[in-house]
Amino acid sequence: MQSSFLDTPISYLKGIGPQRAEALQNELFIFTYKDLLSHYPFRYVDRTHFHSVREVIEDSAYYQLRGHIVEIDFVGDKRARRLVAKFRDSSGIIELVWFQGAKWMAEKLTAHTDYIVYGKASSFMGRFNMAHPEIELVTPELLVSQSTFQSVYNSTEKLKFRNLDSNGIRKCLRLLTLQLNEQTINETLSQTLIKDFNLLTRLEALKQIHFPDSRILLEKAKFRLKFEELFYVQLKLLRSNLFRHQAIQGFVFKKVGDIFNNFYKHHLPFELTNAQKRVVKEIRVDMGSGKQMSRLVQGDVGSGKTLVALLSMLLAIDNQFQSCLMAPTEILAKQHFETISELVKPLQLNVAILTGSSKTKARRELHQNLESGNIHILIGTHALIEDAVVFKNLGLVVIDEQHRFGVAQRAKLHKKNTQPPHVLIMTATPIPRTLAMTLYGDLDTSVIDELPPGRKPITTMHFMESQRLRLIGFMKEQIKLGRQVYIVYPLIQESEKMDYQNLEKGYDALLNDFPVPHYQISIVHGKLTPQQKEFEMQRFIKRETQIMVATTVIEVGVNIPNASVMVIESAERFGLSQLHQLRGRVGRGADKSYCILMTSYKLGADSKLRMETMVRTNDGFEISEVDLKLRGPGDLDGTQQSGVMDLKIADLAQDGQILQLARTAAQTILNEDPNLNETENQLLLQQLQYQGKTRSSWSKIG
Ligand code: ADP
Ligand code: MG
Repeated sequence: MQSSFLDTPISYLKGIGPQRAEALQNELFIFTYKDLLSHYPFRYVDRTHFHSVREVIEDSAYYQLRGHIVEIDFVGDKRARRLVAKFRDSSGIIELVWFQGAKWMAEKLTAHTDYIVYGKASSFMGRFNMAHPEIELVTPELLVSQSTFQSVYNSTEKLKFRNLDSNGIRKCLRLLTLQLNEQTINETLSQTLIKDFNLLTRLEALKQIHFPDSRILLEKAKFRLKFEELFYVQLKLLRSNLFRHQAIQGFVFKKVGDIFNNFYKHHLPFELTNAQKRVVKEIRVDMGSGKQMSRLVQGDVGSGKTLVALLSMLLAIDNQFQSCLMAPTEILAKQHFETISELVKPLQLNVAILTGSSKTKARRELHQNLESGNIHILIGTHALIEDAVVFKNLGLVVIDEQHRFGVAQRAKLHKKNTQPPHVLIMTATPIPRTLAMTLYGDLDTSVIDELPPGRKPITTMHFMESQRLRLIGFMKEQIKLGRQVYIVYPLIQESEKMDYQNLEKGYDALLNDFPVPHYQISIVHGKLTPQQKEFEMQRFIKRETQIMVATTVIEVGVNIPNASVMVIESAERFGLSQLHQLRGRVGRGADKSYCILMTSYKLGADSKLRMETMVRTNDGFEISEVDLKLRGPGDLDGTQQSGVMDLKIADLAQDGQILQLARTAAQTILNEDPNLNETENQLLLQQLQYQGKTRSSWSKIG
């Protein structure tokens, strides 16, 4: 067990009175010694290396400078009021700027003394400045520590007022680490793991992470702590997967029967790709195993997930079970219904659809047919999981685009039969492997990593506003060739009103450039009723209109092969995975397809990288890796509820290799000792239980 030393309230530390303790609690959730110890540095400064002011040449890059302040002044008034300090070294002058806490900074800074400054350069009218840099007086003590890496800690304005800036926090940690020894710090990993992976002890790692003696020891400390963190995450996920396999009985789909075989041999519209074949096989084995399947299928847009879902559903029918398919929107449900009805026409199966707008009478009939087993496949939105919907014998649930469904909704599905049905989750949002391992670590996963043959890669171009005429010309050319065009506008909640204005303005401008009756334009957005949306969609599908103007409602799944041009307005306002999803709407037919990203001139470094990435590659996984690096796991779909945010030191964007090692280690241990009964593993079990108490619990998916 953990020693009580780590649970000591932070106020017991010398120099931390009630007020500072309260500030630490409120600002950084630091309540105990343990919390303070795991307030890891976010950066280390190498005090041996400085840039000169002249070397500051790159926007958004970070620089460490040494020099002195020659002039301090407030400029601007009212809300634009800011503190500007002219900072000089032997090569030149750069302005340091404070918008917040300016008064406090003004009191703190003195002219003509030496400072070390660290911050992000930004260029303004051809000159560089640094806003809110870290700034530190050059003292003899600082110079003594020059040979080591100095830790830098996150702090807040409120903590700074209590002298708990990065330096203040470091001082507290200095005091605390002096008390660390074999008695106060227990080992939390088994000796075997420590030996096998050549890890520092926990004691040594905690000392070195805050006060590294050398770069090598710092790296080893980081490795140890990251490994430990990821190891326990994986151990927990893999155990719950194991538990699910052991504890939850699944329906056994024994046979591949007539319906599947008939369809496969005679009615497949095209040969399956190897990836599709592989995944269907994985699903078949799973559903025949006696265990309940909870499988995630990842496949880029257009990789043919629908067919995989259908084949799985046919297996269910062959074994006298019903299946259902849930889609996130009504439009998509409808489209799945049409596609699947068409495909299974020769098989004489009953396929039905249920959405929010199904009429009461039709609904009642449908309920009866479900209960009597007349319906083989039910397709719909989350209306499917309402309690009134009762199946005779539901055996398989397919969920398309899972991250739009909540965990609670999935749990509801489990209750739809005496035993939980098999669950197949399909997602077109490629997730970096590292993230998938952590988010879906307790699911089995399949990947469709191959597109059907004959697809022509989509050409992506990035246009600025000044190239709008070129865009219009290009659209006219494509329309003349018989193609259709999507134009998508961003819709972001906070600025909904403005977004609609933009959409409408864009629509008006478009009417000028593409006048009726030569051209017809559909428009679809969230303010329309489902009927109006459907009407506009149908006009486009029937090719009565050449252009479809829309907000992101068409983001997922819509399949209109003749639409081969996707124009994305204000593309800088979309995230990478969203851009990729949107682009996936085209390139579905035989014609060469295009995606055009329209942006303003002024793009931040991140936006630029997003556009470049889109132009460079069509590979969803590659894009998701860039996305993860840019945004961090916290902003990616589905991570908020997952507990990924609880990671204190490991970073899923950077630490994929360590994650892989930790996962393999956890798997190996569970293979040999599934219940963690062995003496050697007692420590791990205790640690899991201890963490279970202190950590918010990880979501269970599937
Ligand atoms: P996803 O749902 O994975 O984005 P879909 O299932 O909608 O993709 O399939 C995209 C398109 O590719 C559809 O028009 C489908 O008919 C077609 N398709 C699927 N599998 C194949 C295949 N093996 N060969 C050729 N075309 C395929
Ligand atoms: Mg799909």
